[in-house]
Amino acid sequence: MSELTATRVRDAATKLGLPHLADNLTDLVTRADTKQMGYLDFLDLVTGEEAGVKDDRRFRNQLRLARLPHQKTVDEFDFTFQPDLDVRKIRDLATLEFIEHQSNIALLGPPGTGKTHLAVSLGVAACQAGYCVYFTSLDHLVTKLRAADAAGRLDNQMRPFLRSALLIIDEVGYRPLDRVDANLVFHLISRRYEKSSTIITSNKAFTEWGTIFTDEVLATAILDRFLHHCDVITINGPSWRLKDRLANLEQPPNDDQQPQA
Ligand code: ADP
Ligand code: MG
Repeated sequence: MSELTATRVRDAATKLGLPHLADNLTDLVTRADTKQMGYLDFLDLVTGEEAGVKDDRRFRNQLRLARLPHQKTVDEFDFTFQPDLDVRKIRDLATLEFIEHQSNIALLGPPGTGKTHLAVSLGVAACQAGYCVYFTSLDHLVTKLRAADAAGRLDNQMRPFLRSALLIIDEVGYRPLDRVDANLVFHLISRRYEKSSTIITSNKAFTEWGTIFTDEVLATAILDRFLHHCDVITINGPSWRLKDRLANLEQPPNDDQQPQA
């Protein structure tokens, strides 16, 4: 390969925003030589790898912006532990059609049943597909919005919560909200209604939302908008966090562990 031509290709690749080609020209050409590639196959190799590198960078960037607490996937979820959960339904949601339709998801159930895990896994899939995702607990959300409201910067601070194609609001119901906080949540849900998707996880049934949001009328108004286009997944199973502990408790102690008389 002529050094002059290589330099020209590298410069052009940089100008065109193809850093992988610019950085790996020699390696790419050597691989093409070794495999005796035709012109089309070589172009396929170059464009395919460049696109892969771009996708990967965008995915990592979306993950960073999403502020997910971890990056667990649907494949890491043991569905045999929750036999009442419809695995096909979850796999269906993981195709992200619900985001295309600006529709919502509610994941309900007691602690440790995998609500956050599933919500996060849908968030990871959405990041991979290039969607803008944002994860927050309800507590963090209202703390931020309340401070912004007090500082007269509500619209500004609301932006990340409005901009995302998928907003995940975790842990609704762990702590009741006062009327001001409940109003801020209503404001947010109303503005996202039919524009973008929201996933909510909660340990409380919808009938208890009047207590969470202090005010039945406000809770009904939030639910009215949230549930209009929504898949409700209820996980009524055991806690994964307690599974090993419960298994240990069920085992009779062996002789070595017998308390000494
Ligand atoms: P929840 O939000 O319902 O309280 P989490 O999603 O936080 O529960 O789950 C608690 C822990 O147990 C997490 O580490 C999660 O990855 C794990 N976990 C829960 N259910 C399952 C499951 N069915 N398969 C694999 N891991 C699970
Ligand atoms: Mg949780």
